[in-house]
Amino acid sequence: MKKKAIIIGSGAGGAMAARMLAGKFEVTVLEAGKAFKPFSLSLDKLAAFRKTGLYLDERMIQMLLPSMRIDRQKEMVMVYGRGVGGTTTLATGNAVRADEGLKKIGIHLDEEFDELYRELPITTNHQRFWSPITKQTFQVMQEMGLDPQPMPKLLRPNNCRLCGHCSIGCPTRAKWDTRELLKGINVVTGCKVTRIDISGRLAHRVHAVKGLQHQTFEADIIIVAAGGYGTPHILRASGIDCQPTLFVDPVLCVAAPMEKARQNRQLLMPFVSMREKYIISPYMDWLSFFFNRSWRKPMDGMVSLMIKLADVEQGDVHHNRMRKELTPLDHQRLEQGVIDCREILMQLGANPQDIFLGTLNAGHPGGMLPLTSAEAETLHSPLLPDNLYVSDATILPQSLGLPPMLTIMAMAKRIAKNIEKAF
Ligand SMILES: Cc1cc2nc3c(=O)[nH]c(=O)nc-3n(C[C@H](O)[C@H](O)[C@H](O)COP(=O)(O)OP(=O)(O)OC[C@H]3O[C@@H](n4cnc5c(N)ncnc54)[C@H](O)[C@@H]3O)c2cc1C
Ligand code: SF4
Repeated sequence: MKKKAIIIGSGAGGAMAARMLAGKFEVTVLEAGKAFKPFSLSLDKLAAFRKTGLYLDERMIQMLLPSMRIDRQKEMVMVYGRGVGGTTTLATGNAVRADEGLKKIGIHLDEEFDELYRELPITTNHQRFWSPITKQTFQVMQEMGLDPQPMPKLLRPNNCRLCGHCSIGCPTRAKWDTRELLKGINVVTGCKVTRIDISGRLAHRVHAVKGLQHQTFEADIIIVAAGGYGTPHILRASGIDCQPTLFVDPVLCVAAPMEKARQNRQLLMPFVSMREKYIISPYMDWLSFFFNRSWRKPMDGMVSLMIKLADVEQGDVHHNRMRKELTPLDHQRLEQGVIDCREILMQLGANPQDIFLGTLNAGHPGGMLPLTSAEAETLHSPLLPDNLYVSDATILPQSLGLPPMLTIMAMAKRIAKNIEKAF
């Protein structure tokens, strides 16, 4: 008889672990959210209502796109996915190898990255779709010595309609997400895990709420992959402590009016410039467009650049609420990013007085049970029972300031291989 593996969460880490173990184990994925449906209303029509002042709070998005969750706090807005595919359904499809921090502690995932490059539709062959403003921005950044590079994308370019909806759900499935890994796997949706029973060095039962019912699931192996936001909560409720080392990779957009730029009809983040501790990439920021008053410009009449920062690993999640404040060093680095972006926009012809900022937000939570060099072989924290693994952004040893999906999937592959050997 096959051993039973329960996997909690169907995002980058959970779905990849499930795919790897399926067949050898009897795999069940418990997912708090429901099936993902992309945002289907017309953005043009919704934009027309901005004048009415009806769009008061970013959390209103959840009514229109239930798989997108927003946690608003003093300094920033946290965005994450709650549905089959996790946050990967909201991702812009960037597939970047970001394992510097892992290498530093002796974790080398070359084999797993090679597998990912073979198995997934990763491409940089999308320049032929770039619009005039994207090409112009690329050129300006080249001339400024910012070394922009086409972004590797999880994308089937021929199916892309250039609708610019990547971060609110791809209508054509041109953009790959982890739902593709879950085909044929038993996924229990609407099933929110509350805690895990542990005795001695073994975890043996998962408690969950599905609708109004309390349910339990027995398992030989349990993998927690509820994301950097959800996993610490489950671990703590099960008696395993985490560290206040949350990182989130904050994002700030810098934008300017530019007539007929049509950046809203582009792949998001088509290229990237890697700076020290942050990246810069063109990005139409829908959150700011709808909810930030400074963004009351026509949808096709602006250019926006994203700064994504590798923040200091300092913060916590309590009862699914984030506690995170940027440090003076974070602010200093963000400020440098704003200076770079202002210069790019001015080179593109923007008037310095017209440049405006977006809403500070973040979508890469992780780091609260960071791996250390002592776990370089096992990728398994000694704080966990022998048959309980964490396979998501929670175990990343440091903030990335880069898209983390590919790296999380590489770790999930190695974890699944280790489980196969051990059980
Ligand atoms: C707008 C946006 C764009 C992004 N773009 C990119 C990109 O282009 N490239 C990239 O690499 N990264 C991108 N990211 C980040 C990336 O999507 C995440 O870092 C990655 O998906 C995290 O993987 P994970 O496995 O840690 O968690 P998630 O993918 O968030 O998966 C966690 C899953 O666990 C489920 N869950 C949570 N709690 C429970 C519970 N109690 N019980 C059961 N299930 C639970 C959730 O519903 C979710 O499905 C983006 C993020 C955002 C917000
Ligand atoms: S721009 Fe292309 S990849 Fe992005 S959502 Fe639209 S069709 Fe999908």
